[in-house]
Amino acid sequence: MKPANGRTPPSDTSLDPEDWDALRSQGHRMLDDMLDYLQHLRTRPVWQPIPPGVRERFHEPLPQDPEELADLHQRFMTEILPYAVGNAHPGFMGWVHGGGTAVGMLAEMLAAGLNANLGGRDQVPVAVERQITNWMRDLFGFPERSSGLFVTGTSMANFIAVLVARTAVLGPAVRENGVAAATRPLTAYASAGAHGCIAQALDISGLGSGALRRIAVNERFQIDLQQLEQAILADREAGFQPFMVVGTAGTVDVGALDDLGGLAALCRRQGLWFHVDGAFGALARMSPELAPRVAGIELADSIAFDFHKWVQVPYDAGFILVRDETLHRQTFASPAAYLQRETRGVAAGSPWPCDYGPDLSRGFRALKTWFTLKTYGTARLGAVIAQTCALARDLETRIRKHPELELLAPVALNIVCFRYRSAHPDETNARLVVALQESGVAVPSTTRIRGVLAIRVAIVNHRTRLEDLDRLLKAVLAFGAKEAHQ
Ligand SMILES: *Cc1c(COP(=O)(O)O)cnc(C)c1O
Repeated sequence: MKPANGRTPPSDTSLDPEDWDALRSQGHRMLDDMLDYLQHLRTRPVWQPIPPGVRERFHEPLPQDPEELADLHQRFMTEILPYAVGNAHPGFMGWVHGGGTAVGMLAEMLAAGLNANLGGRDQVPVAVERQITNWMRDLFGFPERSSGLFVTGTSMANFIAVLVARTAVLGPAVRENGVAAATRPLTAYASAGAHGCIAQALDISGLGSGALRRIAVNERFQIDLQQLEQAILADREAGFQPFMVVGTAGTVDVGALDDLGGLAALCRRQGLWFHVDGAFGALARMSPELAPRVAGIELADSIAFDFHKWVQVPYDAGFILVRDETLHRQTFASPAAYLQRETRGVAAGSPWPCDYGPDLSRGFRALKTWFTLKTYGTARLGAVIAQTCALARDLETRIRKHPELELLAPVALNIVCFRYRSAHPDETNARLVVALQESGVAVPSTTRIRGVLAIRVAIVNHRTRLEDLDRLLKAVLAFGAKEAHQ
């Protein structure tokens, strides 16, 4: 049909479906498939090796022509879903991975449908993110004027903390002048058990990973406070400018908790920024039973943690909380004509999330977190956290009873490091872990404890139960006996 003015209308390029009813039924099938997947997770292997044919199918050219959504969904079900890493499964105990929930998945769908951009502007999605900041402020006993921001994960949160601490010591002018203009080189401190992303944060902030002093740990794998203070004094003496101490609440290798109260006092004495990498451990605050273990965290200048680990929010949902909102904003906010703020209209609502970090466009991570916190409440989430620690203690007790097994580190939280005894323990245990992973029964990972290879079991998933530990232990003993005699 020609419009009255005689122009031909452009072809309709909208990506919306022509047949909404068909899309609706396809969408319901996709939703049902994922709910089925989660409901029957336990009956699947935790992980399975990727068949070469499947991997090859993802080396195809950029598609020019359309394909049916139903066909792509089918491909997802047969070629993608079965070959994920498996962290939703109760038998997954490798690294530190959260399990996710169906509620979180549904919230992700709502967020994706809304397609909100949380860089800023006047919208309730930003108010939801602020609500979470206020909840975290209260959870950690931070003051009214604290600030917070969702980021991908704790790696990014730690990086932001390093930058805010840098602003604290050198002033906002450092943003223009760079760290090279500092009269004395800055140095930071963390335990030998600190996560690798701390050194990386110093690296990418321009201070250099060499600026991180790694302090020895005591027999409980906590940072040695005396050696820390000596290192700080020695660095001052040598012309460096110590500026930051990173304490860890839950080290990634053994789950150790630094003495946060002791670190806070030391930082106050020495005039240093006190940051806590609490990637998973910080949220032990939600469990009344475990909260005393992270006492002192309320004295930190900044805390980095992940909702996607112990609190089971689907990936990704990292968070940075900063005590001094002004310093946080001074580290990132920039004037730009196209980001002009108003007091009314869509451009109101300043300060915006983009004033607190390097991202401008950002997704609505706050929504899945809001749904998770509201649906379950901190009491239930805290109970999940406590339960993973109880399971770890149970596993520790059972390992002690098996003469074939040797515990390699004390169990502080939810991580158990042990090995199968053998004449060549490193080789045996490395093979044992691979065999276990390939069996699909359980997925632990490995680490090195005081130089020796350990089977590392981190219980993070809310779905993990005693029967999963039974299966794990049985398989460890069977594979261990086999591998020890290879
Ligand atoms: C997981 C973890 C990190 C990294 O967090 P991401 O969310 O993976 O970026 C940092 N520190 C510790 C102690 C961790 O457990």
